[in-house]
Amino acid sequence: MTLTVSRGLGIGRGVAVGPVAIMRPAPVPPAGEAPAEMPEAAAREATAAFVAVADDLRRRCATSSGALADVLGATALMAEDAALLDDVERRILVGAPTCSAVDEAVEAVGAVFSSAGGYLAERVTDLRSVKDRVLARLLGCPEPGLTLSEPSVVVAVDLSPADTAALDLDSVLAIVTEVGGPTGHTAIIAGQLGLPCVVQVPGVTTLPVGTTVVVDAGAGTVTADPGAELVAWVARRRAAAEALAGDRAPGATRDGHRIALVANVGTPEDALRASAAGAEGVGLFRTEVLFLDRRTAPTAREQESVYRKVFDAFAGRKVVVRTLDAGADKPLAFAQQATEENPALGVRGYRLVRTLPELMATQLGAVARAAEGSGAEVAVMAPMVATVVEANDFTARARAAGLRTVGVMVEVPAAALQAERLLEAVDFVSLGTNDLAQYTMATDRLRGELGDLLDPWQPAVLQLVAATASAARAAGKPVGVCGESAADPVMGLVLVGLGVTSLSMAPAALAAVRFALRSHSLAQCRAIAAATTAAPDAASSRQAALALVADDVRHTLGL
Ligand code: PEP
Ligand code: MG
Repeated sequence: MTLTVSRGLGIGRGVAVGPVAIMRPAPVPPAGEAPAEMPEAAAREATAAFVAVADDLRRRCATSSGALADVLGATALMAEDAALLDDVERRILVGAPTCSAVDEAVEAVGAVFSSAGGYLAERVTDLRSVKDRVLARLLGCPEPGLTLSEPSVVVAVDLSPADTAALDLDSVLAIVTEVGGPTGHTAIIAGQLGLPCVVQVPGVTTLPVGTTVVVDAGAGTVTADPGAELVAWVARRRAAAEALAGDRAPGATRDGHRIALVANVGTPEDALRASAAGAEGVGLFRTEVLFLDRRTAPTAREQESVYRKVFDAFAGRKVVVRTLDAGADKPLAFAQQATEENPALGVRGYRLVRTLPELMATQLGAVARAAEGSGAEVAVMAPMVATVVEANDFTARARAAGLRTVGVMVEVPAAALQAERLLEAVDFVSLGTNDLAQYTMATDRLRGELGDLLDPWQPAVLQLVAATASAARAAGKPVGVCGESAADPVMGLVLVGLGVTSLSMAPAALAAVRFALRSHSLAQCRAIAAATTAAPDAASSRQAALALVADDVRHTLGL
């Protein structure tokens, strides 16, 4: 029998098998809808529907936590946005049929979000989920969504947080969507919940409901009607993953070379989950999560209270706080730049101190106060640093705020090439391989179609990692990796072989990386890293590494 395999962009490394359940489609304005006979009453009815949707979202927000609660709260704000409601009312009063007025007003805001690109463009799905719920109320039909009668693989065109909140998550085995990017809400929420997820799978919603599928996030594939052998393979992978998840040993190679296995977190809830998953510390606290979806900057006091919760979750362990990484894929409403043609090359990351130095001063002050007496070993690092002057400048600001351990991220090639001199200015460096791959390979990280270039396995990217690691070794200072590549157990071996001293990843990835590391000596890691240097491209570089990975690691992790 020929298997039907669809390919997409996998999030994480999980696998699952189960029947397909398709999200109920969104209602559309009825064809030939007539203008309301009493426009004022129709406008009031439309406003009431928006308010009811906002109230409902807020109720769900109150019973959710973490990233899901954040996005639900932000979506509720969109549903009662005064400008949007005024526009709907205006359209109805000048004669537009009610549902069309709602549709057109929401799409007009969506067009503005889309043209802003990046993070805002990915919020268009949230905005449309508001419209779908408003239309369902106005048309008297059920809200779009899905009631699961058995554990299922949820398949949708895209999943909004509101869709996700309406699901019984205990019955969700995996998530597959037709659209959505690696930084979209589907990916964020699936990552937070540790669910296998594949996005950008064209046509997947045409699978008949109930079809058995295997979802393999590591391979980025969805296989329909898989057959007994593949189903048994999934069962073995899941059993092995569960067995490994209980291991809490500190990260080390087989011959005892210590590598700190630490976590990437964005919220206090993430920190608690990461600690429970055995993270030895936090290698990347993405503080911008607190700033996104906000109209004004969070106050120093609010920041301090959030930072303190993360530090408390890691008392006695190290937490690396990354200062605000805004711009490009993470635009902030209160720190908007003049329109930039290439925002990824613009005023983003650390460069924001040029235009908004007070944001940095407030944040460093809040981190220092939260660190006092918290018990955690707090360090700070700046994103997107490109020059020695910037590194010195950041160190001076951080020390002035009372912070002792200061580092910078190496995520642009300029920083990797200057690593030796940067390390004179700071106590440690951390490689952000997501952006390092984007800037080294000149490939937009938000687009899927050039995935072969936007790949940390590209020899040029690995060469910059090697240069940074050898500069750190010469300086006797730590060098971590906190990009997604650290979560790949094979890449983890390469990174250690190149001289990296800590690996920071989503908590769900820790167990597999710990196991791979423990199964190889440092000399083997070095040989695996060396095997990649002669490769002509990313695929053969990974292949060359994989060929030297121990058999039981390959079998247990399904590599
Ligand atoms: C990176 O670029 O690798 C990184 C860790 O930062 P972010 O993904 O938040 O840009
Ligand atoms: Mg980055």
